[in-house]
Amino acid sequence: MKGSSRKAASEGDEPEGLKGTVRIILFGPPGSGKGTQAESLCAEWGLPKISTGEILRDAIRIGSPTGAQARDFVDRGELVPDGLMTRIVEERLSQKDCAAGFVLDGFPRTIAQAETLEVFLRDRGDRIDAVASLRVEEEELVRRMADRGRDDDSEAVIRNRLEVYRRETEPLVLYFRECEKLIEIDGMGRAEDITERIRSAVADVRGMDASVARAKISDPRNEQCE
Ligand code: ADP
Repeated sequence: MKGSSRKAASEGDEPEGLKGTVRIILFGPPGSGKGTQAESLCAEWGLPKISTGEILRDAIRIGSPTGAQARDFVDRGELVPDGLMTRIVEERLSQKDCAAGFVLDGFPRTIAQAETLEVFLRDRGDRIDAVASLRVEEEELVRRMADRGRDDDSEAVIRNRLEVYRRETEPLVLYFRECEKLIEIDGMGRAEDITERIRSAVADVRGMDASVARAKISDPRNEQCE
């Protein structure tokens, strides 16, 4: 066991290898497997999975006011406006089950969303621990999305989502790198193997002194995030 301040094993009932809070963002293009990975990791860690795409699809299905506002954007593969998304996520993160941590899947998707999230967490004395960024080749993304056959997975909408990703969301890679939070994960191959890559990268970050972890997971830059 690493660390000097070992706590009594009976103190909490967190799963093996995960002590204390953990706040993780799963990041990557549409079709990169964020949802699948979030599902496995949350089941294993007993943490809530905050999947914004799922929240929106549920809202659309039940015909709530949020669903009505989001529907056209989702159908076209466009981003839902930042104000609406931020409200949805902040409401969700304010719920009690998120106190011990969470895994975010599909949020933030713009720099504005990332900045608002950072301020929201900072006001509560919290922060994101790590951003696991899944890297998957483009043909594989298209293949995976075509296979899952969701309503918004027609070829034209898939193409548009990828384009929107490159334009609006990919620049966040730099933002997270500057915050020294980015962990790059090879997202090709079997789902279980990818889960293991994320699991061990997160364990590394959490098992080490924060400064050592940051040095390990980031580019050697000096920019400050806050
Ligand atoms: P995918 O990973 O295939 O893009 P998601 O389920 O994550 O699918 O998202 C589906 C749709 O929901 C997106 O195309 C977008 O319209 C909307 N959406 C989800 N998250 C966000 C977000 N953070 N900001 C804006 N729109 C979002």
